[in-house]
Amino acid sequence: MAGTGKFFVGGNWKCNGTKDSISKLVSDLNNAKLEPVVDVVVVPPFVYINHVKSLLNDRIEISAQNSWVGKGGAFTGEISVEQLKDLGVKWVILGHSERRHIIGENDEFIGKKAAYALSEGLGVIACIGELLEEREAGKTFDVIYQQLKAFADSVPSWDNIVIAYEPVWAIGTGKVATPQQAQEVHVAVRDWLKKNVSAEVASRTRIIYGGSVNGSNSADLAKQEDIDGFLVGGASLKGPEFAVIVNSVT
Ligand code: PGA
Repeated sequence: MAGTGKFFVGGNWKCNGTKDSISKLVSDLNNAKLEPVVDVVVVPPFVYINHVKSLLNDRIEISAQNSWVGKGGAFTGEISVEQLKDLGVKWVILGHSERRHIIGENDEFIGKKAAYALSEGLGVIACIGELLEEREAGKTFDVIYQQLKAFADSVPSWDNIVIAYEPVWAIGTGKVATPQQAQEVHVAVRDWLKKNVSAEVASRTRIIYGGSVNGSNSADLAKQEDIDGFLVGGASLKGPEFAVIVNSVT
């Protein structure tokens, strides 16, 4: 933990769950003992946000998985930042690799979404990360610097941003980055912020790791100096395991 903020753990439920399974998950989370020194956020599918909000205790905040790039209106299938705020949502994930690589969102569009969400008062979980072929070609740092630059070019301030480093080859594959691999990139992200934004932003911005984090590997990752929390997919669908990850704060 090098950032000066609190350890931050998000549970990204992606496109999973039913009313029943989500009620059970929320009940497990409400009953879990969570370290008070951790910001905990869950990220349900849009259609269940209201349901989760009505059941979840306020120890845990709610994030959205995406938001529209500007004010709402004639944008079929999109969800606006204003609507998210209306439901009590505090955060939004932007630039997740599934939206970059499956849906085709590009750096510039993601940067604009981040700027809009921040301007309306949402916190942004800004995701970056390289593909396997980019890592193998020695391009990891080029890729993450370019993704960071796209955010930096758009956002007015870094006050409300958490950066999630999620190597695409580690997401949903069971192939977690080693603590050293993650730490190396987190240091590079912090250095980039220092050189290109400010030393102050570099020292206070939380940089969290995502990609096959589970209850067995989170403690080792959390020991790394520059890992300030996690963004968890699959393992966040199990309440007790998610609690273990939250409590791996050092
Ligand atoms: P995973 O997903 O934990 O299932 O690898 C992480 C993420 O996509 O945020």
